[in-house]
Amino acid sequence: MHIFEGRKYKVIVMKKILFLGAIFIFGNILQAQTQGWLTWYELSGYLETPRYDKTIEYCKQLDNFSPLVQYTSFGKSPQGRDLPLLIIDKNQNFTPESVRASGNAVLLIEACIHAGESEGKDAGLMLIRDIVIHKKYPELLDHVTILFIPIFNVDGHERFSPYNRINQNGPKEMGWRTTAQNLNLNRDFIKADAPEMQQWLKIYTSWLPDFFIDVHTTDGADYQYKITYGMNVYGNMNSQHTDWQNKYMAEIEEMLKIDNVLIFPYVSFRQWHDPRSGLIHGIGSPRYSTGYSAVQNRPALLIETHMLKDYKTRVEATYHMIRHSLEIMNKDYEHLIEINKNADKEVASKEYREKELAVNYETSSDSSIVKFKGIDYDIITSDLTGDLWFVYGKEKKDFEIVSFEKQKPVDFVKLPDAYVIPVEWTEIINRLSLHGIQYKTIEKPIEIEVELTRFTNVSFARSSFEGRQMVQDMGMQTLTAKKEFPAGSVIVEMNQRTALVIAHLLEPIAPDSYLRWGFFNPIFERKEYVETYVMEKMARDMIAENPKLKVEYDNEVVKNPEIYNNQYAKLFWFFARTPYWDQQLNLYPIGKIYDLNQINYL
Ligand SMILES: [Zn+2]
Repeated sequence: MHIFEGRKYKVIVMKKILFLGAIFIFGNILQAQTQGWLTWYELSGYLETPRYDKTIEYCKQLDNFSPLVQYTSFGKSPQGRDLPLLIIDKNQNFTPESVRASGNAVLLIEACIHAGESEGKDAGLMLIRDIVIHKKYPELLDHVTILFIPIFNVDGHERFSPYNRINQNGPKEMGWRTTAQNLNLNRDFIKADAPEMQQWLKIYTSWLPDFFIDVHTTDGADYQYKITYGMNVYGNMNSQHTDWQNKYMAEIEEMLKIDNVLIFPYVSFRQWHDPRSGLIHGIGSPRYSTGYSAVQNRPALLIETHMLKDYKTRVEATYHMIRHSLEIMNKDYEHLIEINKNADKEVASKEYREKELAVNYETSSDSSIVKFKGIDYDIITSDLTGDLWFVYGKEKKDFEIVSFEKQKPVDFVKLPDAYVIPVEWTEIINRLSLHGIQYKTIEKPIEIEVELTRFTNVSFARSSFEGRQMVQDMGMQTLTAKKEFPAGSVIVEMNQRTALVIAHLLEPIAPDSYLRWGFFNPIFERKEYVETYVMEKMARDMIAENPKLKVEYDNEVVKNPEIYNNQYAKLFWFFARTPYWDQQLNLYPIGKIYDLNQINYL
């Protein structure tokens, strides 16, 4: 009886919920329609950006109203918010497989990775509405499927305040730069510590967008440009991709002139704040959005709107830049898809591994003179700090300025046919799948000839960075040895499209390798110690057996007084020459395999 009553009650409640839900959805559609589908930003007179709930509500309205839009979530944030994703497709294909089969190119637009930088959210919502509701630019969906993340850093977004961006001119209130765990998502692409990033990587690797636009607001100097941008055009991508991005940028620069939007490469002065020092460019490593896209063989655009322009100017400039990007992609989608596929094939090939791979770049001292549309400024000596104060005026001024943009590769690695990761390094193995990396697990212990690396003179960063203690510098010696790897260890073959991601993860010298990010820090710790009175005696026994040892020891101590400045250090010299010394200390556990024939997976 109770059960029956309970069920009846539930049915009534469910019906009520459905009814109220229908009214709610209908009410929202009605509300949006009566307001001409105006966004929160427009209704506020272009001064405000909507909170998380209002943003999601608008996204869901677009989904409810237009069959071309699907609202979905790609996971949950640490504070329990849905991570939102809108998929917009003319043929209502909403899965990576169906979109790929349709021949469309995929554009990923990401906003609010730094949640206080919200132009991408407001521009994106308006543009999608203008395409699917107002039918202003229906042709922008002809050959392109749009993935739109209106807010990536959802928890940081709700740390809402007028005081989150000290240099920035609006909106009235905004989100915070980092996540609830105080991680900067735009340093996390390759190390993938943040739960948000781990879930983002799953959608990224399943969709593999042909082009990726990441929208930010910059800090830095004053100038006339509404937008500065970053692209991988300085030599870290292959020539087809470099040419495509250069051509795209030249085209978009022309298109944006009509919209009165001036753009320029990301502005960074050689001496911070001092325009006289000249401009300097660099290559973003894979911790950043565009740097990560490059190692996934895909072009990307970093938009940095200029923080001193008012919010409306910034949102409109972003709107135009994304709209024109869609125009170019629609025109060039087949070629873009083709060069992406070519790059995938190229990095997986045997020939690719025969060349050395550059992993670190430095800005060369070659420079050129460029025209820079700046703002007039005075330099005064501050009576408060005693330092230079660049006081920007209101007058536009065109400068001729020295620019350093040429990059030279400085560190190279030799790529193996495969890497082997011992089973116990589970955190590393778990990260592989997040990046779409395929690997094979060995079922029985196996002895393989591998190339190993031993580190010397390892130094660490003095302070924590993104919750990790990074390795700053190290010497490396390579050795070849037969080594046994336990069952469950994994073989990561390089004949796959993620070869560059693998190399950047596992080659210690790479700028964002897992070794540099501190994933392997325990290997640098000495775990067994010797008592001085034991070693004092043993050292004498060793010298008695091999008198030459004393000569060697004396030479070392004289040569390196700063190292051998105490009893422990001196006795450790002998300890390291006993069979008790830990042979695994400073030894990188990951091996490089140059002969895959040695491996039988069973
Ligand atoms: Zn940013």
